[in-house]
Amino acid sequence: MDFKITGLGACREVGRSSFLVDAGDKILLDRGVKLTPEKIEYPLAVNTNLDAAIISHAHLDHSGDLPHLFVKSRPVCYMTPPTLDLAELLWHDSLKIAGIEGYDAKFSRAEIRRTRKFTFPLGYRTRIDITDKVSLEFFDAGHIVGSAITKLTFNNTSLVYTGDFKVVETRLLNKADIKLGHVDYVITESTYGDSDHPDRYKVEKEFVDACLRTVENNGFAIVPAFAVGRSHELIDILIEHKVGCPIYLDGMSQKAANITLKYPKYLKDAKTLKKALRKARWIRSDRDRKRALEEPAIIVTTAGMCDGGPVLNYIKRLYNDEKSAIFLTGYQVEGTQGRRLLEEGLITIDGKEYRPKCTIKKFDFSAHPGQSEMLKALRKWNPKRVFLVHGDPPKITTFKKKIEEELGIEATIMEFGKTFRVGEK
Ligand SMILES: [Zn+2]
Ligand SMILES: [Zn+2]
Repeated sequence: MDFKITGLGACREVGRSSFLVDAGDKILLDRGVKLTPEKIEYPLAVNTNLDAAIISHAHLDHSGDLPHLFVKSRPVCYMTPPTLDLAELLWHDSLKIAGIEGYDAKFSRAEIRRTRKFTFPLGYRTRIDITDKVSLEFFDAGHIVGSAITKLTFNNTSLVYTGDFKVVETRLLNKADIKLGHVDYVITESTYGDSDHPDRYKVEKEFVDACLRTVENNGFAIVPAFAVGRSHELIDILIEHKVGCPIYLDGMSQKAANITLKYPKYLKDAKTLKKALRKARWIRSDRDRKRALEEPAIIVTTAGMCDGGPVLNYIKRLYNDEKSAIFLTGYQVEGTQGRRLLEEGLITIDGKEYRPKCTIKKFDFSAHPGQSEMLKALRKWNPKRVFLVHGDPPKITTFKKKIEEELGIEATIMEFGKTFRVGEK
């Protein structure tokens, strides 16, 4: 049977993921925003009555605009229980940031409440009918706690949306569950469509060594990290490597940690994580923050792309200290402060530009699959056609070519605002 897919965002870019599937019933896949220091970019409006909205995982580039839909409509939403709790934390935080920065938020607390009320939390590997025509099943995506690969089935046709996924296991999470049964069509992320990641355990070792060297040299290792997932993984790595110096955890990652620990079944090793988080020192006030800078230490803090949060505080105080270091640990989206810091060595804090003298280095701790990981998954699924989203050019074009040449599968780059008709006529 034929159906239609429309790209509302994350087309030839990373951010604001949102895709509309029209299989007679209308299903929205993700509703994210794209955050840069100057502005928030939104996906295209949904100009139809939705039968359901599905959120793959809590990251704001997949969930950030969902409450906005509840200003005018009441779609039934589906996501895993951890995704709902983590997304709610991030939605409230984005309202707080809007208040601080003085721009109008697109939704209020009332819409967040309504979103929760209209959400049906669904675990992995449980197939349910979400409309008369369409059924839904989630599979573990291995990207962050609660992240899901979405499989929709309608009229004997199955469409898989990978969301963000990770085909190899990481310290906190199992690898993605890619045993999806029969698959006809795939919408896949393409973040690292042109390259592979270095061996994770090697990166961990390099990261720990760099932190230790910095501290032994009487400096501070400032580690900007995403609140959800990465910051907890880093604490776990540092504790597992028996790092002796003080390790601090600052920012929203603390609340996210409490939510994460509520869902041990969604983690590979909840006990170890709990132990590690307990050993870290949690910063709860400005006084703690000052105290953290009294003796050399490792400070894991938000925001991961340096676009706000306590990390700016630390950079402001340490930028001139050659002994200290800023260790970036995640994907730095174009236009973010983290990207600028890496590429130009510059950062703007409170309207003032700084050129840090401390060491700046990035470690490749990706929660996304590299090219061969994605090819492995696609080879297993062997779909009739693949749609590529969530990737910057030229990476996404390289990935398209690779899929077509290596797997012989038709690969289409999803275009912003464009509708593709798929399947038999
Ligand atoms: Zn993500
Ligand atoms: Zn993403």
